[in-house]
Amino acid sequence: MLSSIAAVNRTIVACERCPRLRAYCRRLARDKKPEFSASRYWGRPVPGFGDSGARLLVVGLAPAAHGANRTGRMFTGDSSGRWLYEALYRYGFASAPESVSRDDGLTLRDCYISAAARCAPPANRPRRDELERCRPYLEAELRLLRRVRLVVTLGRIAHESWLKAAGWWERLRPRERPKFGHGVTARLPDGTVLIASYHPSRQNTNTRRLTRAMWHAIFRRARAVLEEGPPRDRSGLRRHDRVVHRQAHVRSHGSSVEPGRPEQRL
Ligand code: SF4
Repeated sequence: MLSSIAAVNRTIVACERCPRLRAYCRRLARDKKPEFSASRYWGRPVPGFGDSGARLLVVGLAPAAHGANRTGRMFTGDSSGRWLYEALYRYGFASAPESVSRDDGLTLRDCYISAAARCAPPANRPRRDELERCRPYLEAELRLLRRVRLVVTLGRIAHESWLKAAGWWERLRPRERPKFGHGVTARLPDGTVLIASYHPSRQNTNTRRLTRAMWHAIFRRARAVLEEGPPRDRSGLRRHDRVVHRQAHVRSHGSSVEPGRPEQRL
């Protein structure tokens, strides 16, 4: 039984459950990208990072080959990380706008970053069986991060992984499950607010599928939810086992959750 975040992290770092991913990460660490030839790559599974008393949980896909797989910290040392930490800093969740290395002194406030898989996958595509093998770590974090009441999922895989790890995938009927779409916000029966976002990968940011304004709107909304949202209502879950989720469009000017609105994109 993993009874603390420190124990979860130690177990993740030593994990060898996925031979394909472990071999790939070791190969990356050995061969290196020319621009990082002087770096000593981490090359191991990457644990979660942040404030264990956090109310905001950010769930990504997996470490980047030359980002977190190199530095050993979530979203650190790559383009996606530059987007993420700039936004976290802007909205008061990070002590600095840049995340360069795991010993750069950066801290998170009221925020914890996790991922669907902890090893960098070839072509950024973990296989289904690898995601399933890694999910117990996210489940353990959800059990231990007791104050979380708001979750931001980065990309469809992260979105579905969180729903599965939190038990909602199984508990809700398919049409009741919160949909994935940029800015779609849902409230789960226990009061947890879920905001879906496109992943800040180069593929999305370079093509402007995800713009800076769309991205900032996610974290502006997250900050607003934490400041004004109602407390979690676990008793509501016990009273009725049906979702009462509300989907909303997070407008770039930061609107509130709007019940009954269809899925929209920024
Ligand atoms: S992806 Fe997860 S389960 Fe698979 S080896 Fe890495 S840490 Fe272990």
